[in-house]
Amino acid sequence: MDFLARLHQDSIVCDLHADSLQWVAAGGSLGGHAGHLDLPRARAGGLDLQFFSVWVDVTYLPTDGEPDRSFARACEILDAFERETTRHTDAMAPVTSASDSRRIVAEGKLAAALGVEGGHAIESDLDKLEELYRRGVRYLTLTWNNSTDWAQAAKVEHQRGSPQGGLSPLGEAVVRRMNHLGMIVDLSHAAESTFWDVLRVSEAPVMASHSNAFALSPHYRNLKDEQIKALTERGGIIGINFYSSFLDADYARRREEAEERRRAELEALEREMPYDYPARAARERELLQAEMGHVPVPATRVADHIEYIARLVGPDHVALGSDFDGTNAVPDDIPDVSHLPIVTRLLHERGFSESDIRKILGGNVLRFFETVCG
Ligand SMILES: [Zn+2]
Repeated sequence: MDFLARLHQDSIVCDLHADSLQWVAAGGSLGGHAGHLDLPRARAGGLDLQFFSVWVDVTYLPTDGEPDRSFARACEILDAFERETTRHTDAMAPVTSASDSRRIVAEGKLAAALGVEGGHAIESDLDKLEELYRRGVRYLTLTWNNSTDWAQAAKVEHQRGSPQGGLSPLGEAVVRRMNHLGMIVDLSHAAESTFWDVLRVSEAPVMASHSNAFALSPHYRNLKDEQIKALTERGGIIGINFYSSFLDADYARRREEAEERRRAELEALEREMPYDYPARAARERELLQAEMGHVPVPATRVADHIEYIARLVGPDHVALGSDFDGTNAVPDDIPDVSHLPIVTRLLHERGFSESDIRKILGGNVLRFFETVCG
C-alpha cells in the first residue's frame, strides 16, 4: 500500500450527510444497492463515520385538511434504520457521540449517526424534537428547500429576492432546546436571514453539513465568505457537498436551463412517483442527461472548495458532506463512496500536510461532534 492509500485508510474518515436511508426506507439494503453508498463500498472507500440523513419529503406535509405526516415519516425512516443496523451488526453500529464513534471505528465497523433534514419533521412541537433526540438523532437541518413557520429556507428567500423571515420566537426556542439537549444545529439549506438569527441565538457551535463556497460557485445553497467566517469563528464546521450544481457554476447554469426546458416532464415525474425518491431521482437523471448531455465536473472541484475554505479560515473547519444518495449528479471521478481516497490524493497534491488532511477527512467532525454532543 502506498503512502497516500495508507494515510487514507489510517485516518478516521467522516461524512456529514448522505441520504441512503431513503433507499433503505424504500426497501433497499445497505448491504448493497444501486446508489452511491452501501456497506461494501463504504469499506472500500475507507469511510468510518457516516451521518445518515433522515430526510422528510414535503409530500408528507398536510394538504386539504389531511393531518401532517412529517413526524410519522421521520419515525418510519428511523425504524428502517434500526432494522438495517440489526441486520448488519458485523459491519455497522449506531452511534450518538464521538466516543461511541471512536469505539465502533476501532472495532472495524462503520459508525452510523443520524441527522434529520427538514425542520418540518418536528411539526412545530418541541416534544417531537426531544423524541427524535431520544431515538438517537444528533442533528437537525432546520429547513430543507421549504420554509417552516419558524425558519426560512434559502430557496424560498432566494425566490423572494431579499433576506427576510429568519427565525421566529418558536425557531429561537427550537435552537435553545437543541443547545440544551446537545443536538447539532445544521444550517445547510437555511436562508441567510435564518443563518444570522441562529448565530445570534445559539450558545453552541453550529455547522453546515452539506454546503460549499459561494465565491467559487454562486448558488443560494452555498455560503458567502462572511457566513463562512462567522460560522467558523464560533467553532463551527462546513461539510463540502459533492453535488455538481453546488461545486461548479457552469454545470449549475446548464442544468437549470435543462430543467427549465423539461419542466413539464419533471413535474409529471414528481406527480407520478411522489413517495419514491430514489427511483424518481434515477428517472430525473436520465431525463436531464438526455437534455443537457454530459457536462464534466471533476473531483478537483471538491478539492477547490476545500482549499478555498481552508485558505479563508484555516484547516480546522472544513469537512466532507457528500450528499451521496441525495443528489443525482456527482463528480465523474467520485461516482460513489468507494472513490473517496481521491480526495486524500488531491489534498496531498495541493500541499496539505498529513495532519491537515486527517483533520479534513474526519478529525474536525469528531472534535465538533464531541464539543456539541459529548
Ligand atoms: Zn440537503
